[in-house]
Amino acid sequence: MNKQEMYLQLGISPAVLSFGERILDGLKERFEAIDEMAELNQAKVIHAMQENRVSAACFAGTTGYGHDDLGRDTLEKVYASCFHTEAALVRPHITCGTHALAIALSANLLPGDELLSPVGKPYDTLEEVIGIRESKCSLKEYGVSYRQVDLLPDGSFDYDNIKKAINEKTKLVTIQRSKGYQMRPSFSVAQIGELITFVKSVKPDLLVMVDNCYGEFVEALEPSDVGADMIVGSLIKNPGGGLAPIGGYICGTQECVDRCAYRLSAPGLGQDVGASLSVMTALYQGFFLAPTVVASALKGAIFAANIYEALGYHVVPNATESRHDVIQSVELGSEAAMLAFARGIQAAAPVDSYVTPIPYPIPGYNCDVIMAAGAFVQGSSIELSADGPIREPYAVYFQGGLTWAHAKLGILMSLQKLVEDGLVTLG
Ligand SMILES: *Cc1c(COP(=O)(O)O)cnc(C)c1O
Repeated sequence: MNKQEMYLQLGISPAVLSFGERILDGLKERFEAIDEMAELNQAKVIHAMQENRVSAACFAGTTGYGHDDLGRDTLEKVYASCFHTEAALVRPHITCGTHALAIALSANLLPGDELLSPVGKPYDTLEEVIGIRESKCSLKEYGVSYRQVDLLPDGSFDYDNIKKAINEKTKLVTIQRSKGYQMRPSFSVAQIGELITFVKSVKPDLLVMVDNCYGEFVEALEPSDVGADMIVGSLIKNPGGGLAPIGGYICGTQECVDRCAYRLSAPGLGQDVGASLSVMTALYQGFFLAPTVVASALKGAIFAANIYEALGYHVVPNATESRHDVIQSVELGSEAAMLAFARGIQAAAPVDSYVTPIPYPIPGYNCDVIMAAGAFVQGSSIELSADGPIREPYAVYFQGGLTWAHAKLGILMSLQKLVEDGLVTLG
């Protein structure tokens, strides 16, 4: 069977395939640059593993208290080496990215302190953590106040108002690298570095935490290389490489990470307890694969941007701009188009491909949300997935792809469904 027949068997018409191939012809140089970056980051990860003498003994888990868990302790050293931090907390007991962020914030802010976000509204799930939306156990309930400075209309930092917002109570500054579900641009590590330098010049003893979700291994440097005291993320996104079944990480200064460990387990216990059970192999192997998995996801995002921009849709980031995370949004302009797109992503999945995604209400949204995912790890968004709230501007957020070939198939299938529903005509 040749390639065209193979794609036809999966449901991709020759017209859709050849449209995709034409777009791909123009992306060779960008894909080469992504492969270069993956090579660099692969070397960084391997060096960190070698430096910390990773061995087969690291893959045996522990049970009970988990004292002397060689695998867990070594993995934390590997993360710290790779991200150039004094210490790291990397564990299956951190249930998700929001949990990791909540630990980092609540461990390092005390009653009377103030938290500042100089980059506008944080990720939705952090609203309850901070207390922007009332919640039991929020930082607000514990007497930590919050201040926010929005980005300027062009997406840049509002330095004047950031300076004014920093006061004697300001203790910690939180910077979200990825745009999340907003239409603002994601920040480069260099931009984040400039912002960190600025806030620390205003008040040198400020702590800076970067929400690094979706950003790991997209660039050669991480925010910890440009002054962040903590970087925080989820293992079912980039650094888990698709293999980690659970977990989160916090890498940073010894002082910050010690406090996080005390908050995660208990004061006095810290990093000494926490059995790793049987997940260690997946966490190591996933971290090893992460640079190339991120490269696949990035190629998928760039391919999608170029396909949909060529068809006249508004895409963020656009077809040519540089990438700082693995998220691609496409403004499809109608509910029907969102549903068709999601059906395509679902139909291309290795798992649950026969399922039809339908919009449903999710707490925290004022409208229904559509989600497409056929993942090995439930909810994993480094695996090919798409979602979006059914409201203006009818944008889908598309991310992931453990292999480039799968990301390509998913995007072609989304286009196939739009064509079949008469929503797109290929010229
Ligand atoms: C995914 C994400 C989070 C939260 O992670 P969960 O694992 O879904 O809890 C926080 N911030 C950003 C920018 C994210 O992309």
